[in-house]
Amino acid sequence: MKPRIAVLATGGTIAGSGQAGKDTGYKPGVISAESLISSVPALAEVADIQTIQVCNLNSDDMTDSIWIDLAQRINDLSRELDTDGFVVTHGTDTLEETAYFLNLTVKTDKCVVVTGAMRPATAASPDGPANLLLAVEAAASGANRGKGVQVSFAGRLFPAREAVKRHTAALDAVTMDKDALEPGRLHTTSTEFDISGLKALPKVTVLYFNVDADPALVAYAASNSDGVVIAGAGAGEFSLLWKSAIEKCKVPVVVSSRTGCGPVLQETMVCPNAVAAGTLQPAKAAVLLRLALTRTRDTKELIRIFGIY
Ligand code: ASP
Repeated sequence: MKPRIAVLATGGTIAGSGQAGKDTGYKPGVISAESLISSVPALAEVADIQTIQVCNLNSDDMTDSIWIDLAQRINDLSRELDTDGFVVTHGTDTLEETAYFLNLTVKTDKCVVVTGAMRPATAASPDGPANLLLAVEAAASGANRGKGVQVSFAGRLFPAREAVKRHTAALDAVTMDKDALEPGRLHTTSTEFDISGLKALPKVTVLYFNVDADPALVAYAASNSDGVVIAGAGAGEFSLLWKSAIEKCKVPVVVSSRTGCGPVLQETMVCPNAVAAGTLQPAKAAVLLRLALTRTRDTKELIRIFGIY
């Protein structure tokens, strides 16, 4: 008997449609989950596939309620149906955020693989079919159980926590941030996050620091969000004006780096209320802070949470 894989489709370029043969000028999130699967006949040799259309959108329009719905569906299917693994198809722009969210919230050892594509399904040489095939093979293989959510892209498989989109156009745009690789980080069945019963996540604003960046942005973000993530310069730095604005924040503040690589360490935090993001990129730090805020606002607790996930 072949492994049974549930493919949960959310849209993106992998489901994009445009002028036949063209790589650009297409509309993402058009083609249905069923058509995506039937366009890759090799999939049927690997697994029995069940398709679920969760949504069909450009991943820049992804929302917290869709994240919660997606994680809930995976949790329900992993308990109630005889499903051996899961594949999520997704736009590449925010794929790393969704993959990390699932890595922290799905409660199953069964393999969950997130994939997408840089070229629409109607391109002369689309990359979606190979990415999808690799994802289904990985999800169907018992070897990937218990390893946390994975991302399959351009012939490679890597952990969700370290997945990043690093190029606007290259076929291997979604890749692995090797400097962030920390295999001991907790995931899936070992996390403290419970999304059952949640409808929305706390709101977190990410602020990018640059020379002369207006400190009023910090005050604005703090009074209009439940938490703030700073994409600081270098190892998580900013001006003296931002420092005093951050110290006045009444909501939790996490400091990450705009450099794209390398750690931001707790011992170098200049504001007593700041939590270091470690090796998490700003958008990923925002995912973890949103989930952490469902449990605590305490700085010490947040430092603990950023140290283990
Ligand atoms: N804008 C698209 C999306 O994220 C890009 C892609 O999928 O490559 O949905």
